[in-house]
Amino acid sequence: MANSKQYQRVRFDTGHHRRILVLMAIFGLVAFVPVAIRLWDLMIRRFDYYTIQALRNQTRSTAVSAPRGTIYDRNMDILAVSVAKENLYLDPRELKQSREDIEKISEFLASVLDADQNKIAEKAKNMRYRYQLIASNVEKEESDIIRQYINEQDIQGIHLEPSTKRYYPMETLAAQLVGFTNASNQGSEGLEAAYDKYLSGTSGKVVSTKGNNEMDMPFSLEDFVKTEEGCSLILTLDATVQACLENRLQEAIEKYQVENGAFGLVMEVDTGKVLAMATLGSYDPNAYLEIYDSTQAELLEQMRQDFMSYPQQSSQYLQGKEAYQKMLNDARLKQWRNRCISDGYEPGSTFKVLTLAAALDSGAIGLDDRFYCAGAEQIPGRSQRLHCWRSTGHGSQVTAQALQNSCNLAFAHIALSLGGERFYDYIQRFGVLEKTGIDLAGESGGVFFDRQIIVDTEKWGTASLTSASFGQTFKLTPLQLLRAISAVVNGGNLMEPYIVEEVLDADGNTVLRQEPTVVRQVISQETSRTMCSLLQSVVDEGTAKNAAVPGFSIGGKTGTSEKIDVLDEKGNPTLDKIVSFVGIAPMDDPQYIIIVALDTPSRDTGLYISGGQMAAPTAGAVLSDILPYLGVKRTG
Ligand SMILES: [Zn+2]
Repeated sequence: MANSKQYQRVRFDTGHHRRILVLMAIFGLVAFVPVAIRLWDLMIRRFDYYTIQALRNQTRSTAVSAPRGTIYDRNMDILAVSVAKENLYLDPRELKQSREDIEKISEFLASVLDADQNKIAEKAKNMRYRYQLIASNVEKEESDIIRQYINEQDIQGIHLEPSTKRYYPMETLAAQLVGFTNASNQGSEGLEAAYDKYLSGTSGKVVSTKGNNEMDMPFSLEDFVKTEEGCSLILTLDATVQACLENRLQEAIEKYQVENGAFGLVMEVDTGKVLAMATLGSYDPNAYLEIYDSTQAELLEQMRQDFMSYPQQSSQYLQGKEAYQKMLNDARLKQWRNRCISDGYEPGSTFKVLTLAAALDSGAIGLDDRFYCAGAEQIPGRSQRLHCWRSTGHGSQVTAQALQNSCNLAFAHIALSLGGERFYDYIQRFGVLEKTGIDLAGESGGVFFDRQIIVDTEKWGTASLTSASFGQTFKLTPLQLLRAISAVVNGGNLMEPYIVEEVLDADGNTVLRQEPTVVRQVISQETSRTMCSLLQSVVDEGTAKNAAVPGFSIGGKTGTSEKIDVLDEKGNPTLDKIVSFVGIAPMDDPQYIIIVALDTPSRDTGLYISGGQMAAPTAGAVLSDILPYLGVKRTG
């Protein structure tokens, strides 16, 4: 209390000071010298010291996070923004009301906030802490009602303080990419997590000053520690392209009764800028804890009701609750997951693009070489006969036809001509063995063979080399595949993909700007040009005719892969399939690349499950939406 007494002395304002000086002048300085010295000591010399002591004792500080920066797409459309809200807290010591009044106040607040009156009353009576949070992010309508009540009733001790709430106006759009912030306003997924240090700004403290007698302090120290607003992000993402991609993927999910969702990407081939990145089913980051998939949500609700029907602490209750919480947690993690960068999958025949580019670039084969397919063949170094996907065979094919037919036997021979060493070196240079380095958290690097298993065919046989040549028995991420194929068509350059174009501070100054980065040149310009015409022939004449878009030259490659590692209840492979298509446009000067993949189309639709039948038309539909929007000129 010593400080408090000293504090009472310094509470004279400058008016008092002046009056004392006047008195001193009137009654003669001498008599007042000791007093004046003491006053001077307290008021001037030691002012800072007492101020700090007083502040330590009299202030309440509340950590307030700074407003997070905004996330914009490349057209400055808002994907994530912080909106101003208010927190409601009580100061029980200030309230100092009779029990009856506390009941009345609690009842009023509970009715406005739709909250538990007893809990509010409990907090209002708890004198241990002077900061009792009643509600975060109160809507303006409600805080206005509360403010009016405070004024009308003249109540001390009910406080509204500024806070911010994260809002995602585009809801499910690009949800896994954008991510969300947790209850403490920290980025926990997607860009919100990867760029948290830029977005979050500097947290501060709001310090309000009240003396022990609840009088206002003679000096005011608002914003004692100032908050610094977070930086904003401008993405390479285009919300319109993203919406086109998501809509077409959703259509395909419904049309082909796809059981396990879909994913897709759109990228600029020359720069590595990501225009769209989608994983479906999605979720709404405004309510990220809720399970967005309605079937899954109903199942969970059923589980919850089941265990709730047992007496608490019974074993059925406890086991049921544990199973429910595990399933809920898994479902949340699944809907938040960005499959384009986090999950490897078997690329299947889309990978043949890389094998062929390597074989042509190294000179291992030429365009006039012929490959014979009888439907099945005993390949040297493989223990079993290798079957082409077309059991009746493709007959004699030149190189372009082998790609158009997506002939597995031809590609086994192309891989053997190339040899394990060159194949592995090219695959490595195409970035298949490394992460792409995209500016997002949670990127995975895929799973590929050890070098010796591909290279040392004397010891390991040719099964791994030949299977890898047509995209089987290993995994990579959709983004890894897409950037590798971008290098095939863009003149040979492997790029580092990115999603944030620019980081701006609160005043609009550039803090960070990303430029396209060439990692390395993988194939020659000439090979790249050759590959472009071959890829166009796959859409014009081969397995990807369904991807054609009238008026635009499209190239691409289909893929159908079995999920070899997914087993049914008896431990047998389910033979579930991922069908995919990688498309490029326009082929005279490639600018955009797209991948769409559908995970496990139903066997009951009567349609043949293949990339050509399902993924190619889906990608074609996206391209027909976005190419005119992106300003690509029609050729006919
Ligand atoms: Zn064949």
